[in-house]
Amino acid sequence: MFTWVFPSTVTVGVSAELDGGLCVMAMSMEKSDEFKEREIYDYVKLSELPKFIDLNEEVQRLVKTCSWWDLYGVDWLITCTAFGLVGASLLLMKSPSLLFIGLGIFIYGCCQSLFAIRNGHAALHNAMCSSRSWNRFWSFFFSDICGSFHADLGYDIHIKSHHPHTNIVGHGDSSTWKVPFLPAYTYMFVAPLLVPIITIPVVMQGLWGQWTRMARFITLGSVGLYINFYLLMNVSGFTFKGALLATVLSRMVLSIPYIHVNIFQHIGLPMYSMKNRPKKIYQMSNGVLNLPRNPVLDYCFGHSIISCHVEHHLFPQLSDNMCLKIKPIVSKFLRENGLPYHEDTYTNRMFFFLNKYSELMVQAPPITHFVGIQ
Ligand SMILES: [Zn+2]
Repeated sequence: MFTWVFPSTVTVGVSAELDGGLCVMAMSMEKSDEFKEREIYDYVKLSELPKFIDLNEEVQRLVKTCSWWDLYGVDWLITCTAFGLVGASLLLMKSPSLLFIGLGIFIYGCCQSLFAIRNGHAALHNAMCSSRSWNRFWSFFFSDICGSFHADLGYDIHIKSHHPHTNIVGHGDSSTWKVPFLPAYTYMFVAPLLVPIITIPVVMQGLWGQWTRMARFITLGSVGLYINFYLLMNVSGFTFKGALLATVLSRMVLSIPYIHVNIFQHIGLPMYSMKNRPKKIYQMSNGVLNLPRNPVLDYCFGHSIISCHVEHHLFPQLSDNMCLKIKPIVSKFLRENGLPYHEDTYTNRMFFFLNKYSELMVQAPPITHFVGIQ
């Protein structure tokens, strides 16, 4: 159970959770102006704050007992299964039956998300295998070739900014996901469908001026699209226009939940100032939320993005299967040490965002200052 922090009810996200625990007091400032009204102070006894090093020791003890199969093999089996399912989906799309074509597009889209989102993300974190060089290779393969998104741009946005600065206002605060001029229902259910269409222009804009990276993206992205169109036209028998339509529709299959999970996991939780940022374990336990397991999203986006997002932010180098394995250790450690372990259902989060869209997605978030007491 956790308490949300709304701009209009500035007191006290974390303190309710930590009553009698770490957080001595969290209070709203005097309402001298609108900005001040949005500031929250978390006073935390540093001597009682659990140390990340202790949690890390427990997790590494488990990791050392794990085989290659646990560390990487399970995830590679899922990837290989997805390659097989791509073949099956191409054959389904060859059918004259609209039902089979629709099913084929759905499976093809799920596999594309698995390659581009789940594996592209894991490779950026060096979580696909033990070799850094091979992870780099796989990041180009899954991100650029399968996902039409440049791996190095993903690295800059996700690894260099979002992870170290999770929920730090102006840095990793997920504000890039906000499109404040859009009404709630349009943002939540219509705009995500444009993701497959705007991905390439967004990447080109992000790479503007970085010509080597752009040349690499154009080369790899073109190879990926060529293979995609070749398969759809030669195996499924589509015309070019049909293949284009199948490509766009398949990439739309999970684009709505993709946007949803990206905003559900961080926005609405405490946002910290760079100046008074908390210790890592406090930052991640307060600023990250897990969704429940889901048979489609677990595999297409990965456990590290769905039910083990807290674990992923604390141990980003671990594969999806390993995140699932360390989940009991992490949740127990945080709870026993009086820190929040945020969990909520997909539908709860969806209605929460629809009801509080203006506060969460249009207005600036309240800023929480971490004040460590010696
Ligand atoms: Zn990540």
